[in-house]
This record gives sequence, structure tokens and C-alpha cells, in this order.
Amino acid sequence: PSVPDLEALQHGDVARLLPHPAAESDKYRRGVVGVVAGSARYPGAAVLAVAGALRGGAGAVRYVGPGADAVIARFPESLVQGGPPSKAGRVQAWAVGPGLGEDAEGAVRDVLASDVPVLVDADGLRLLDPQTVRTRAAPTLLTPHAGEAAALLGVSREEVESARLASVRELAARFGATVLLKGSTTLVAAPGDAAPVRANPMGTPWLATAGSGDVLSGLTGSLLAAGLDARDAGSVGAYLHGLAARLAAARGGTPITAQEVADALPSACRDVR
Ligand code: AMP
Ligand code: MG
Repeated sequence: PSVPDLEALQHGDVARLLPHPAAESDKYRRGVVGVVAGSARYPGAAVLAVAGALRGGAGAVRYVGPGADAVIARFPESLVQGGPPSKAGRVQAWAVGPGLGEDAEGAVRDVLASDVPVLVDADGLRLLDPQTVRTRAAPTLLTPHAGEAAALLGVSREEVESARLASVRELAARFGATVLLKGSTTLVAAPGDAAPVRANPMGTPWLATAGSGDVLSGLTGSLLAAGLDARDAGSVGAYLHGLAARLAAARGGTPITAQEVADALPSACRDVR
């Protein structure tokens, strides 16, 4: 039988894939995720990406960037440092890009030179070189929305929106990376066409709010750090993100904020188990 083009992740799949600490686990086994996000212009992105990473179940979150004071004030449990990501301590996966603004290039290059899985989002996707990504030894997960995907492909946003499945597959092929295309139905494609593209059935348009993508980046980065492969991390991340948004809406009404989505992630995890 031929492989279907699309598959939807089910509740039971997420329960099976969701990391659960073993009795003898420690924070390194749970995974240390490095977050490179935020700038003077977008200080909130650092806090929201770290919130997603902590609530995504990482054993530790290491924040590298200019937003250390704000991150520590909100999350004293995070580790923060200045300097380039390559000088940071042990990290098992990186999430880079939310709110970096114009200063993204150096940090992205540094993180891509590492030998651990890397998620690239938002400003990190600008100036991204396919060859640099293709030749990485470790997996890379790109998480564009339609506008960012259009810029990567050199087409219009409308062209991406009218051919989302073909666009996500084309990006995965071009970059040799797993690609999560955000939107009303988020799609996750692995490079090569052996595996069906995963469609997220859990979205809600209330997620269309500033900062919600930053939470998804941190959350999905923590799943990469826990050892999920890029396709599973992306699709489980999108599912939990959507479920958390629905639970936040059910609890407190709408509109919801990105911070409330991060805060509802533990409820989402409880719900799938
Ligand atoms: P960003 O574009 O980076 O701000 O991320 C926005 C987040 O909200 C992504 O996770 C999108 O998938 C999600 N989102 C945006 N619009 C919708 C929609 N109409 N329905 C469901 N999810 C959406
Ligand atoms: Mg975004």
C-alpha cells in the first residue's frame, strides 16, 4: 500500500510520545534546552520562549541573550548567560529565533554549528542558508508561519497559503530539514517523502495572538532536548500548544494570551495522559 500524504496525530500518539521522567531520571536525562530569543526591541519573546520550554518539561532551560534580567525575574529556575551560544554550558537542543530582530545572524550561525538538534523560528529564519542546514550532522527543525515560509521559498504568502502541503514538502526537501508550517492547520514534514506529513488537529484560531509562536518554539525545543525526533517533537509540540490554548479558553474564557497558553501546558499534558 502507498504511504498517505497526510496523517493526523491522535491523543494516544501524543500520550505515547510525551516524555515522562523515569524513577532514576535526572535533569540531564530529561533534557537541557538552550533558548536564544528576545532583543531590546522584543524583550517579551525571551520570557515567552523560556515559559514554553519550562512548561514543555525540560530538565533545565539555559537562556542565552540580552533578556537575562527579565527571564530571571519571571523564572528564577532558568539558567542565564551572556556571550555567544557556543560558549554556553551543556545543552541537548537549541531553540533560536523568536524576537531576535536584526541581530539574529551571528547567533543562528553559532547554534547551527553545534552538533545537537536545533529549532529555528521567526527572525532566525531570515538569511538562512540551505547548504548550512543541509550539511548539519544533527537534525534541524524550521518553524515558519506562511509569511516566513514564503520568504524562504522566494514566493508570495498567497502562493504558500494556496499550496500548504506542497510548500512544506518543498521547504523540507530544499533545507534537508524537518519543517513545521504554522497556521490554521499546522503541518509537519520530514525531509524525503517516506513519511506522511503530520497535520495538527488541535489548533484554535485564538492562538493567532502575539507571542504564541514564541511559546511553541520553547515547548518544541524542550521536546527535542528530551530526545524526540524532529517530526515527533514538532507534531507533539503543535498538539500540546493547541490543546493548552483550548483548555485556557475553557477555563478563563477568550481571548487568551500567549502567557496563558504556556501556563495551561501542564493541564494539556495531564489531559493527554
Ligand atoms: P506565530 O505566527 O509565530 O505568531 O505563531 C502563531 C501560532 O498560532 C502558531 O502556532 C499557529 O499555528 C497558530 N495559529 C495562528 N493562526 C491560527 C489559526 N487561524 N488557527 C489555529 N492556529 C493558528
Ligand atoms: Mg512567530
